[in-house]
Amino acid sequence: MAGPPYPPEWLALLEGLKPALRLWRDDARAIAEIRAAERRGFATARSPLPAAGPRGPQSIVYLARTPAAAEALRALEEPILPTRGVAALSTDHVARHRALGLALGFPGCCIDAFLARLVRGVDRLANGDVAHEDHVAVCDALGLSQALHARLNMFPRDHGATWLSHVPCRFDCAPSIAYADVLHAAFHRRDPAAAAGIDAGLGTGVAIAQDGRRTALDDAPPGACRLVFAAAEA
Ligand SMILES: [Zn+2]
Repeated sequence: MAGPPYPPEWLALLEGLKPALRLWRDDARAIAEIRAAERRGFATARSPLPAAGPRGPQSIVYLARTPAAAEALRALEEPILPTRGVAALSTDHVARHRALGLALGFPGCCIDAFLARLVRGVDRLANGDVAHEDHVAVCDALGLSQALHARLNMFPRDHGATWLSHVPCRFDCAPSIAYADVLHAAFHRRDPAAAAGIDAGLGTGVAIAQDGRRTALDDAPPGACRLVFAAAEA
């Protein structure tokens, strides 16, 4: 039998492990997600993005337990939507990013790390060099990590499912490990094979090139950040 008909973060919402979801989708998929959420009794709100993506118009979809909560998320992000081209980062913008992260249930340490990258420029390494924001996030987190936990991998080589919905501040972030392990256990109860498949994808070594490409470790270009994980526990 195929796995559950939803990604891990859907289960996190259904189980009450996350207060709300924020999904960046092409419009056709956004509408399908809204219908699926409403069938499950969740409230939704949608913000069409100012600029289209490579496959056409796109939206951010918010799923929450009440219409007021979904609408609050939409209103919070409205001035800082991706693709809006915010020219200068104001104190209000930073405060909105923080509030959005908290409302989505992200750990405070990981929100702080994201805000530090945001203020520096998400495409700026600590030494000032320009790189893809995934490369910057991984390099920053690697610099702080004593150990690498596969369940905190947000950058699987195949762009497959992840346990986290946020980029961890470090690959041994304690609140992120606790969240990922609880979500893994809930998923595993429903579909052990699918949970093992996600763990296998996340545990596969991956290199993040400066332009954001994900490659096998053996194919890593010069300057890539390398993620080599210890095996996840069952
Ligand atoms: Zn953290």
